[in-house]
Amino acid sequence: MSLRMRLQPEALGTGMTSQRVRDRLVERLREEGIRDERVLNAIRTVPRHLFVDEALATRAYEDTALPIGHGQTISQPWVVAKMTEAVLSASPEKVLEIGTGSGYQAAILAALGLEVHTVERIGELLRVARKRFRSLGMNVRSKHDDGRIGWPENGPFDAILVTAAAPALVEALSEQLAPGGTLVAPVGGAASQSLVMLRKEVDGRLSQQALAPVVFVPLLSGMID
Ligand code: SAH
Repeated sequence: MSLRMRLQPEALGTGMTSQRVRDRLVERLREEGIRDERVLNAIRTVPRHLFVDEALATRAYEDTALPIGHGQTISQPWVVAKMTEAVLSASPEKVLEIGTGSGYQAAILAALGLEVHTVERIGELLRVARKRFRSLGMNVRSKHDDGRIGWPENGPFDAILVTAAAPALVEALSEQLAPGGTLVAPVGGAASQSLVMLRKEVDGRLSQQALAPVVFVPLLSGMID
C-alpha cells in the first residue's frame, strides 16, 4: 500500500531516528496487539521525529508520550495505533480529530488516504502542526476552535477521534457521526481514562465498548492564541 505524503531528506532520519529504530517500534506495537498492517505501515513511514522538538527527536520512536509545549503531549504510539485501528474497522473516508496537538495523529490518518479534519484550541500548536502538514505534502483541513462543538458545517463524519479526555462522551460530537460511523475517545477523570469506542449503527442506534485504559491530557473549554 502506498501512503499519501511527500518525504524530504530530513524525514528519513539517522541514528535514533533511522528506519531501523522505527522498525523496532513497529515490531513492539505488533507484539502489543496492533494487527492492522495499514496502521503499522503508516507508523513505520510517518516521521514522528518531525512532530516533536529537535531536542526530543532521539526519543521519538520510544513507545511513550512526549511533551510538545503548552502543557500538552504527543500521544504514545500504541495509543495512536489503537485509535486508528479502531476507526479503520468501519472503512471511513471523512474523519474528524479533536485535539491536533503536534499533528501526528492527523498525519497518520492523512497518510492512510483519509480526508482529515482536525480542530485545536491552542493557536500556537496549530500553527506549528500546519507547517508540518505542508512540508509533508499532506492535505489536512484544520480549524482553531473549541473542538467540543465539533465541525458541524463539514459533518457528518465516518469517524471521530477525540485525543483529549473528558468525564463523558461529548454529545455534539456523537451527533456529527454518520450512520455506520465510529467515535473513539478517552472517557474518565484526570488521572486515567478508558478508551471508549462508540458505534452508530445504520439505523442510528448507539453501542459502546471499552478498548483499553489510557491517560490523556484534559479536553478544555474555550480557545487561546
Ligand atoms: N492528537 C495529538 C495529541 C495532542 S494532546 C497528537 O497527535 O499530537 C491533546 C490536544 O488536545 C492538545 O493539543 C490540546 O490543546 C487539545 N485540546 C484540549 N481541549 C481541546 C478542545 N476543547 N478543542 C480542541 N483541542 C483541544
